[in-house]
Amino acid sequence: MPETMRAARYHGPGDSLRLEKVPIPEPGPGEALVRVRAAGVCHGDLNRLSGVVDPGVAPLTLGHEIAGEVARVGPGVSPHQPGERVIVHYCVGCGACHWCRTGQENLCDAPVEWYGLISDGGMAEYVKVAARNLVKLPAGLSFEEAAPLACSATTAIHSADLARVRPGEVALVYGFGGVGAPLVQYCRLAGARVLAVGRSPAKLQLARDLGAEAVIDASKEDVPARVRELTGGQGADAVFELVGTAESMPKAVASLRRRGRLVFLGDSRDLLTLRPIQLVILEAQFLGSRGATLDELYKAVELAAAGRIRTAVDRVVPLEDVNHVLDDLRRGNVVGRAVVRP
Ligand SMILES: [Zn+2]
Ligand SMILES: [Zn+2]
Repeated sequence: MPETMRAARYHGPGDSLRLEKVPIPEPGPGEALVRVRAAGVCHGDLNRLSGVVDPGVAPLTLGHEIAGEVARVGPGVSPHQPGERVIVHYCVGCGACHWCRTGQENLCDAPVEWYGLISDGGMAEYVKVAARNLVKLPAGLSFEEAAPLACSATTAIHSADLARVRPGEVALVYGFGGVGAPLVQYCRLAGARVLAVGRSPAKLQLARDLGAEAVIDASKEDVPARVRELTGGQGADAVFELVGTAESMPKAVASLRRRGRLVFLGDSRDLLTLRPIQLVILEAQFLGSRGATLDELYKAVELAAAGRIRTAVDRVVPLEDVNHVLDDLRRGNVVGRAVVRP
């Protein structure tokens, strides 16, 4: 086994990733070393590169959508064996706080690891992870299809469950990208009518293919007016805000039905200004959705294995091309998820 590996390393906001040779980590007690076969490129990586999200840890290997094979296990790891195909849940909570005790480690008071955010992630040949975070991959799922489940599909599941999407309701997916694709499918599975907002014909076509009943082109159409038109004047019961800009946020609010739930997932540096009465007259609810739990990754893998959530893989590229992919993602030219193969 070699001692070093290639990794795409983050060195601080405003810089692109650098391909470097770094030591292959050694798994300790309760840990496993995973040979990464596919790593998804998430919008969260762009927020990290731009500094919108900056936990202050650098240098660091990015990548929190990780699928691969167990290469080695540390002491005390019995259920997982070398060669096993796995996908990795990206965060490890402290195990002691209220949130960890209730299985909601995404809200942990003091996370111990968060791959690609505060600890080295999967844009490398190998990654060292907590063995508890490994979810076995069924044979029918390729590494490329599986990797994006780790963040994009789990985020979709978590946010739709938070919004309590119910049969017959209208869900508006505002911003059709990596999370939008599984969100359209999951809201359909929950029995909702799904409307999707996007800006490119290719993305809107994909939204339709994945089950959106109608799509709205935000570059040409008046989104709230179209939503009212499509819902008999009512608006959407659940609006998923995946863009988070000064342009999108007021339109997302204006698309809400009475008692509607607006779930924030996207982020920029923009602010949303509202008069309280806007929420009062609607009895609207605002929610934030932060990541997902290990259990939600189990759920995502089950749904994907059963063919009920399909991963839309835009392209698979070698690790060397990760900066090109990030540029394309920034420009809105990735339809679904791009995956790197280290
Ligand atoms: Zn992500
Ligand atoms: Zn905790």
